[in-house]
Amino acid sequence: MSENTLYRKYRPQQFHDLVGQDHIAQTLRNEVQHDQLSHAYLFSGPRGVGKTTTARLLAKVVNCLHPKQGEPDNTCASCLAITQSKTLDIIEIDAASYTGVDNIREVIEHSRFTPSQLKYKVFIIDEVHMLSGAAFNALLKTLEEPPSHVIFIMATTELHKVPETILSRCQRFDFHRLSDADLGTRLRSIAKAEKHAIDDGVLDSIIRIADGSSRDAESILGQLFALSDKRITQAEADVVLPRSNMAAVADLILAILQNNQAQALATIAKQLNDGVDLETFRVDCIRLLRDCLLYTLVQPSSRPNLPATLHDPLAKTSAQTLVRALEAFLNAAQYVSVSPLPQLPLELAVLQSTFTSLVPATPPAPTAVVNEPTSPVKEKTAPKSDGTLWQRIVDDVATRLPSLASSLHMVRVVREDNQALHLAGPYALHVERLNQPTVLQTVQDLTEKIGGKKLQVTIAHDPSVTLDVKPTITHNTPEAIAPTTTATPLHADQVWDQIVNAFHD
Ligand SMILES: [Zn+2]
Repeated sequence: MSENTLYRKYRPQQFHDLVGQDHIAQTLRNEVQHDQLSHAYLFSGPRGVGKTTTARLLAKVVNCLHPKQGEPDNTCASCLAITQSKTLDIIEIDAASYTGVDNIREVIEHSRFTPSQLKYKVFIIDEVHMLSGAAFNALLKTLEEPPSHVIFIMATTELHKVPETILSRCQRFDFHRLSDADLGTRLRSIAKAEKHAIDDGVLDSIIRIADGSSRDAESILGQLFALSDKRITQAEADVVLPRSNMAAVADLILAILQNNQAQALATIAKQLNDGVDLETFRVDCIRLLRDCLLYTLVQPSSRPNLPATLHDPLAKTSAQTLVRALEAFLNAAQYVSVSPLPQLPLELAVLQSTFTSLVPATPPAPTAVVNEPTSPVKEKTAPKSDGTLWQRIVDDVATRLPSLASSLHMVRVVREDNQALHLAGPYALHVERLNQPTVLQTVQDLTEKIGGKKLQVTIAHDPSVTLDVKPTITHNTPEAIAPTTTATPLHADQVWDQIVNAFHD
């Protein structure tokens, strides 16, 4: 069974069947029952949470010949015509592929005529924010004086892009991301109807990946049904789902909260041996750490669901500790592509989360892929912290291109002579960015503009370069994890700044 077949097959046929949007279902039922319909509705919310489904239900119930308590009966001639898409009076437009004003004029022309078959002509405009400005104006004119037999139902994932003039003429409904519990209920009922059994761990994985979207969850479920006839086990699900193990993620976080480094490292080693995708595992750790942080900050009634084993340790954990751990796991991303050992970025994140005195974000030498070896050549022209050519270049850039300057601040001069300026920095992301041809060219041009002579510039990645105020070169031994004595431990704020800078642009 294909994923789309499943999604269509279980598309709710009554408001009662909508999952997670009770507030909207109830209001719409009331409006239908009391004949208080609007001529324009706007449904906003994330993708895959039921906006279009609700629009179709509304289109059906307003045309149903025998509605019952605000629900369509799904058996009358009108309901059947709509279900089978055999009526010209329900017009669905995907604005993402239909944005020209000519098309919208056509739509408006269309709306003047009375319905050919049904009571109401209903226009469902999906992703309405994609309409052009001119198209919006044309739509607006119709909404100002809508014909009595016409209902517009608009849906959008980006409410802020819908003009205020349109918003003010619509009855608005905000659709919510589905809760884990709602998604679980929905998936279980579909699995039951399809006579498939699914391990709870697999359901949890689907819910985690779907991230509140019913459509995504059902799509993944459809892929899993295609794999197996009866019972879907974790082993089968691994073929489709990026593999991670939430129990192991919880174990790792528990070990961090208990400052048990040995246990944490053993958990990581086990994931590696079990063939778990460590990048998925890292992202899952970030998710759980964030939930832990929320857990410590919000009212007990709004706390996220967490494994019970974490409750007691969290009561003794400060938000600061969790923020530090989050930063460490976020930071680990920049080492994933350069680390020769896949588990090393995670191991460092664990150690940075648990050693309070450790310098964050400075990995040991084994992660290095050094573009140009920074052999311990004696610096002939040891740069000083002010007045050097490099410092003047950085100052110049800072006044004009602050975002580029943030990367320039992350490298140091390691050698300088009459022909060339050799730079190196500990952060792969910044080095990569500076090595983009246009950026490198800009820096080379500046050596001529500011220093009077064009120098060749090289920028190497070298994790042993420290960024303390004095631009000296230090060489950590490969095993060293502790900071060198010259390094100034970074403050949490500074680490955050570096993360922000790294992802800037
Ligand atoms: Zn009906």
